[in-house]
Amino acid sequence: METPMAEKTWKDIETGFVVETPGGARAYRTGDWRSQKPVYDKERCVKCGVCYMFCPDAAIRIMEDGYVDVNEYYCKGCGICARECWTGAFTMVPLSGSEKKEAKK
Ligand code: SF4
Ligand code: SF4
Repeated sequence: METPMAEKTWKDIETGFVVETPGGARAYRTGDWRSQKPVYDKERCVKCGVCYMFCPDAAIRIMEDGYVDVNEYYCKGCGICARECWTGAFTMVPLSGSEKKEAKK
């Protein structure tokens, strides 16, 4: 029996697969393939929204107070937010051993 869409992980994606439905990638937990994660320093954030615009997975959302939050379910750890944030509010750090195990489940 085929795995229901909502339970699929990125490992269920076939090679060369293209998500044809707008928003279709939402069904895949892309955050579990990362080897590093962005750590956010709110003190350095000036609420410009640049990281929000550049994140390729829409994993960053802007909170009501203007600061940002990373959705670990979708964050692939690409590091673009850390590269584009001009105040250095994001630092990429390797996942710990337990975080890697959790991601492989
Ligand atoms: S790019 Fe940096 S300063 Fe701008 S909102 Fe994102 S974390 Fe804050
Ligand atoms: S590491 Fe990549 S996927 Fe994760 S929040 Fe930053 S830009 Fe988005």
